[in-house]
Amino acid sequence: MNDAPQHKTPPLAGVIGWPIAHSLSPRLHGHWLRSYGLAGHYVALPVRPEDLAQVLRALPRCGFVGANVTVPHKEAALALADTVSPRARRIGAANTLVFEAGGGISADNTDGHGFMANLLQNAPGWSPEGQVAVLLGAGGAARAVVVALLDAGVAELRLTNRTRSRAEQLRDEFGPRIAVVDWERMGEALDGAGLVVNATAMGMTGQPPLAVPPEALQPGMLVTDLVYSPLITPLLATAQARGCRIVDGLGMLLHQAVPGFARWFGREPVVDDALRRAVLAP
Ligand code: NAP
Repeated sequence: MNDAPQHKTPPLAGVIGWPIAHSLSPRLHGHWLRSYGLAGHYVALPVRPEDLAQVLRALPRCGFVGANVTVPHKEAALALADTVSPRARRIGAANTLVFEAGGGISADNTDGHGFMANLLQNAPGWSPEGQVAVLLGAGGAARAVVVALLDAGVAELRLTNRTRSRAEQLRDEFGPRIAVVDWERMGEALDGAGLVVNATAMGMTGQPPLAVPPEALQPGMLVTDLVYSPLITPLLATAQARGCRIVDGLGMLLHQAVPGFARWFGREPVVDDALRRAVLAP
């Protein structure tokens, strides 16, 4: 039986994390709700790991139609869901939940979609097909990028990570198009690459920059960073100065939000400059 509230209230959605105060998602969804004149609210939900299961069962009972989940809940949310999309299953984590009318929780992962949509929107004419891609990092976000790049048809994916065993784990799981390169040989890994992706936390405000040798960055490469604070990371600044095309990481955050918003609020939203300005406003 559907035990969701029977009275008609505007749909509610939110982002669940711990901590969550600095999330840009409420601004992002708030901008879309206002721009399209839609009834609904999207809020930040600070939830401790030990409370996640209880909160997920309670939210649909008070008008929530779904939620984004972020650090540290992405794996736990997948395990708690009743149905899981194939891409979320492969990535091993969820970032978008839909509370179904029948009472179940559906889990999806839209990070890989956001990653690829960002590149396709901001590097017009670029195609992943047949490319050699280099991925720096092997954490949770890197898993989503691996799945997205393999699905998009890259010919070879070179993985390098400070902790080599995590990169090897990804290779063992995702197959023969992946080659693991030692972290210390990062520069050599870039030889002949068409795409370079930073999926580590390096370069984020307060963190040291990535030590990519500048001469390894060649004109014609597309270089992107998942870090979006600062927008132009030291890696992107060096790549741009070396004549590479660059795409910042904010667009990934914006695009990963599209499928959830469409499901919860009934309208496919657009990622445009007005959205970027709204999210970046001081
Ligand atoms: P994670 O699971 O904690 O992984 C962190 C990664 O960074 C690992 O590969 C780790 O290497 C590496 N790393 C951390 N400190 C390092 C250091 N001092 N030297 C070398 N490598 C280091 O984190 P995540 O969720 O994958 O997130 C990674 C980054 O992506 C974060 O900056 C996050 O904000 C960003 N992100 C952006 C978006 C977006 O929408 N743009 C989405 C998701 C994540 P080890 O394995 O050796 O520890």
